[in-house]
Amino acid sequence: MSPLRMVILGRQGSGKGTQSARIADAYGTVHISTGDMLRAAVAEGTELGRRAKAIMDAGELVPDEIMNGVVAERLAKPDVVERGFLLDGFPRTPDQAEALAAICDGTDRPLTVAVNLEVPVDEVMRRMLARGRDDDTAEAIARRLELYEEQTAPLLAWFAERGLLETVDGLGTEDEVFERLRAVIDARLDRAAAG
Ligand code: AMP
Repeated sequence: MSPLRMVILGRQGSGKGTQSARIADAYGTVHISTGDMLRAAVAEGTELGRRAKAIMDAGELVPDEIMNGVVAERLAKPDVVERGFLLDGFPRTPDQAEALAAICDGTDRPLTVAVNLEVPVDEVMRRMLARGRDDDTAEAIARRLELYEEQTAPLLAWFAERGLLETVDGLGTEDEVFERLRAVIDARLDRAAAG
């Protein structure tokens, strides 16, 4: 079976992070969360972290040219080449989607699937206020949701046009959602194997 190369899309608070960790575990693919990478950079006080901190606290997006570089570098690492990847939090803008396409399209390592984990706005708002992360102020949450609708939601059509989009209902228990994700991923992997 070829490695899983997947993008997971969904509003912040949709359960993307939790489900991504489970998928990475089940399929042996590398979970790449750009939010986690940025938080690690902030904690370590690297140049990237210093540039990203204020942007993240405000719920704004780190500039595309920075993110595209960070992700391109990560996707070129041997573990990812061998085991595949699950991108969580990237792409978030059309420019980032184009950067990903430039890496994957027309290679022997194409994207397997882009999954939209669908959870309504009122539910993600409730969940984000409950998790109480440092950058989860009401203002930052509202701004992130606004940016999602503006910048990220259009990517659903972009992936659909390329025949890569699957939508999964993100409401229900963690196990229920995971089983739904497995069903669409397995079907796509079978299809890829059949050529
Ligand atoms: P997340 O953990 O995915 O919610 O990301 C937390 C914060 O990191 C976001 O609110 C953004 O400020 C920043 N971030 C993460 N991924 C990206 C990305 N692909 N493009 C721009 N900013 C990002």
